[in-house]
Amino acid sequence: MRVLLATRNPKKLVELQRILSGVSLVGLDDVPPYAEVPETGLTFPENALIKARAGVAATGLPTVADDSGLTVDALNGMPGVFSARWSGRHGDDKANLELVLAQVVDVPDPLRGAAFVAAAALVLPDGREWTVEGEMRGRLVRAPRGSGGFGYDPIFVAAGQTRTNAELSPAEKDAISHRGKAFRALASLMTTVSV
Ligand code: IMP
Repeated sequence: MRVLLATRNPKKLVELQRILSGVSLVGLDDVPPYAEVPETGLTFPENALIKARAGVAATGLPTVADDSGLTVDALNGMPGVFSARWSGRHGDDKANLELVLAQVVDVPDPLRGAAFVAAAALVLPDGREWTVEGEMRGRLVRAPRGSGGFGYDPIFVAAGQTRTNAELSPAEKDAISHRGKAFRALASLMTTVSV
């Protein structure tokens, strides 16, 4: 059974395919191009659903989509769904991370809690829909460390770790990550529904 993961990120495809046996995952680069819809949702599950519904409408394939971001306690959960464009420039990881660090510069260490959150949505051609979520709690450090990962990884230390996410190996990060947890929840959901 073919399932579309509505992403152009090959790492996400590999990560989810490792977890999902019995389905053949394809990405956006493997299906005829279609106009991508704006992510207008105010929550991660809403945005994941928007992307998954668009995939089903365009391809007729069961579609999975994910949406994720960083939520900072001292910023009332922001940048949240605006994580990729917090500095005003979509995908400028360095500017986004520097803005968050500047915003919490006066926040003392015990109050620097944060979490990465991921939602994954599954939408079937018959209209059935599900969402699942995964979270990785941790704290923000004061200066970036490490060269792995992406986005806010250099300023985030997960609970129980001393290294930032950008100092972990990909396998170490997958094992504890928000996306790993959401993808594993999705895999167990997919064994209970007939896709
Ligand atoms: P997307 O869901 O892949 O579009 O990610 C949204 C944004 O959230 C990214 O651009 C990053 O800024 C941030 N983000 C999501 N997951 C991670 C992660 O695992 N590490 C660091 N940043 C992340």
